[in-house]
Amino acid sequence: MPETPEQSATGRFDTVLIANRGEIAVRIQRACRDLGLKTVAICSEADREAPYGSTADSFLCIGPSTAAKSYLNQDAILLAARLAGAGAIHPGYGFLSENAAFASAAEKAGLTFIGPTSSSIATMGDKISAKRAMVAAGVPCVPGPDTALPDDPATIERIALEIGYPVIIKAAGGGGGRGMRVVPKADVLHEAIALTREEARKAFGSPSLYMEKFLEHPRHIEIQVICDDHGNAVWLGHRDCSMQRRHQKVVEEAPAAGIVPDIIQPVGMACVQACLQIGYRGVGTFEFLYEDGAFYFIEMNTRLQVEHPVTEMTSGVDIVQAQIKAAQGHVLDLAQGDVTCEGHSFECRINAEDPDSFLPSAGVVTHLALPTGPGIRVDTHIHAGYKVSPYYDSLIAKLIVHAPTRAEAMARMREALAGTEVEGISTNIPFLRALFEDGAFAQGETDIHYLEQWLKLRRAA
Ligand code: ADP
Repeated sequence: MPETPEQSATGRFDTVLIANRGEIAVRIQRACRDLGLKTVAICSEADREAPYGSTADSFLCIGPSTAAKSYLNQDAILLAARLAGAGAIHPGYGFLSENAAFASAAEKAGLTFIGPTSSSIATMGDKISAKRAMVAAGVPCVPGPDTALPDDPATIERIALEIGYPVIIKAAGGGGGRGMRVVPKADVLHEAIALTREEARKAFGSPSLYMEKFLEHPRHIEIQVICDDHGNAVWLGHRDCSMQRRHQKVVEEAPAAGIVPDIIQPVGMACVQACLQIGYRGVGTFEFLYEDGAFYFIEMNTRLQVEHPVTEMTSGVDIVQAQIKAAQGHVLDLAQGDVTCEGHSFECRINAEDPDSFLPSAGVVTHLALPTGPGIRVDTHIHAGYKVSPYYDSLIAKLIVHAPTRAEAMARMREALAGTEVEGISTNIPFLRALFEDGAFAQGETDIHYLEQWLKLRRAA
């Protein structure tokens, strides 16, 4: 256990407004109830029938269906918090969760933002300043300067040559897999920069770009951290999120297969050091690419992540509760030596989308059967009769399994997927079932391109 001076400022709030929707709204509400906290649920007009509305202590509709006018409407959310008497806001993931201005506005309104300080969010939200902070903390980064690309074409060419082709051009403010372009060789460099700069300006409001080595066959491995306000930080092991389609994660697992403690230990400790150095509070994830035995930092997510359950299953730590307790000012109640990783966990993202074309599928769920049994967890907000709205992300449920070994966890996921029935809308369940039959995936250690290649072969067959 860490040294525990005084439990300062505990119980700073007793009511939490959950500024999100869907499965994560349910998940956060549950954690609040477990901690004896009251909850305020909010919704857009499209989500008026949301099941978590009736289980919250208050439920307020804050605006029309489009996210910009509801879940992204900062003034409406702050007003709802005041009206409902909330003392804190939990942003969940997506929406306003990594918006430094919102975190700052919440604090100015006298509310606790359940997350890091707005300045930590701002530093990590800009990928260039994040990289600079990581270099300073000794975290290994992808080769390439930790400064924005200049305008001078000759200097840009020199930077690319120094890094060595292929390189990747990335927007400093990029996110969600957008604002990136691979440059295989010199003759398309300037065109790629011009296109990415224009995209970045339009999508992220900043033309700032940087360049790094494009790694050709990496895995995506990330490290979960949790920190308090008293100088304590721990890492909770690692996850592999290499199963991606269009840079979006589809299946996640913990731990990452084949990563021995000797190689990950120093990286985990460097992440902890980085947290202490930047005065980080709450939960966060350091994302790395892993290639040929080396780790390269790509970005930090300063929020709860969709895939946090796989780490909860293997570490036994309730990450959402720990996050809320950190925001309350509690001293972290576990030290690095207390952190263990037991067994193996997988998470499948069940999306309302066509399993072949991946186009979103909205409509009413006419029949729903969810799997149960040892080592099976389902995080969802849907039920039979639920209307899947076309306005938001297509994630309708997360299927999570835990078993002693990776092979047993895969078998358990096959079983769980076989027992999941969703009718009335299309889902990616058939695709997930097929993926869990794949031999190379079963072997483990596939890279970030594997899923796209697998899909291509499947379409061609
Ligand atoms: P975002 O914030 O949009 O998620 P990231 O920097 O986390 O962007 O990168 C998303 C994905 O893009 C990674 O998981 C990886 O698949 C790919 N990627 C990013 N940087 C590189 C790189 N230097 N080399 C190869 N692939 C990369």
